[in-house]
Amino acid sequence: MAASMKITCLDCGAVNRVPADKLGAGPKCGTCGTRLTDGKVREMDANALAKASKTDNVPLLVDFWAPWCGPCRMMAPEFAKAAQALAPNARLAKINTEEYPKVSMRHNIRGIPTMILYQNGKEVARQSGAVPASAIEQFVRSKAKLTG
Ligand SMILES: [Zn+2]
Repeated sequence: MAASMKITCLDCGAVNRVPADKLGAGPKCGTCGTRLTDGKVREMDANALAKASKTDNVPLLVDFWAPWCGPCRMMAPEFAKAAQALAPNARLAKINTEEYPKVSMRHNIRGIPTMILYQNGKEVARQSGAVPASAIEQFVRSKAKLTG
């Protein structure tokens, strides 16, 4: 029997449990019905970040960005490509540090874009600067424990 994995809904913040071998079966949030592992980059709020970063067994890569940051905007399509490539075994999300300035302090962000990889309730690795999709994917594959 596959272990169940905790995975936070990045839309409503509810914590779901999904068997590891069902991550690719289109699991939906039990609270709001959002698909949890559809490979789309989610814009998250501070609450969802706090919960997911402390809870999720499924690797979560968060892009700390801001609308005024040119390199951040340049990386957005690369980040989206990497999200598709890594689904359903890892999730990619972004948080607008202009909208949620406190998260930069809480997560010790010194420059953007910065990507932080979380798994099993803790930070696994971080990387600053805009990079192509292949490097984002490689970063997650080399640092996280992927189930598939
Ligand atoms: Zn939800």
